[in-house]
Amino acid sequence: MARRRPSAKTLPEPVVDSAAASSFRRRLHRWYRANARDLPWRRTRDPYRILVSELMLQQTQVSRVLDFYARFLERFPTLDALASARPQRVLEAWSGLGYYARARNLHALAREVHGNKNGVIPAEPDALRALPGIGAYTAGAVASFAYEKRAALVDTNVARVLQRYFAPGLPLKTGAGLRRLWSIAQQLLPRTGAQTWTHNQALMELGALVCSARAPQCPLCPVRRGCASSDSLQKAKRPTKVGRVPRKPK
Ligand code: SF4
Repeated sequence: MARRRPSAKTLPEPVVDSAAASSFRRRLHRWYRANARDLPWRRTRDPYRILVSELMLQQTQVSRVLDFYARFLERFPTLDALASARPQRVLEAWSGLGYYARARNLHALAREVHGNKNGVIPAEPDALRALPGIGAYTAGAVASFAYEKRAALVDTNVARVLQRYFAPGLPLKTGAGLRRLWSIAQQLLPRTGAQTWTHNQALMELGALVCSARAPQCPLCPVRRGCASSDSLQKAKRPTKVGRVPRKPK
């Protein structure tokens, strides 16, 4: 009989030991400083530019976003420029990137901030979430990357890293499972907002470059020691029989 996957509701609330959290952070941050990609949205703290990058990166790979990001900002260098543009021009600038609801939301957000918030994008996650198209992840990203707030974030990459390291078996696609991952992310946050910038970037980078969905590189992973999934993932990768793999008939 097939074993049933544990339900997130039956799992205990996660508690991250503070010594384990600090060791995890130390190794992760050191790795990030040596291995991070140089990406344009990491060179700025401008909330508008960070917001544009975050919306573009939803469902889209970094390599694809790079060109669009530069061209979009050439056309609309500021939130005010975007707010006063006609909708058609915004969609033209987004053309080819797909998921056009993101462009409409970004435009609506620019108009809302321009008209009702003196052109200032809010810094707190709760206020950010009240804006069009901003969910929990994007609110945490803008708060921590633009304003260096001590705000957690969980996107697909971060969810995978945290689940594999701290809570293997936790169902990722359930509300209760995600809530537990957010709780882990919150408990892992460093003390200061400036460290949180590095921490959130590093978690995302580890999920993108090392702890990938299909081919996690556990032997190269800076947080391998202590990871609850490393051994099982490496065992699953090893061939079960020694010997030559039979060739496929031509
Ligand atoms: S050791 Fe492997 S499974 Fe664990 S976080 Fe690193 S890459 Fe992911």
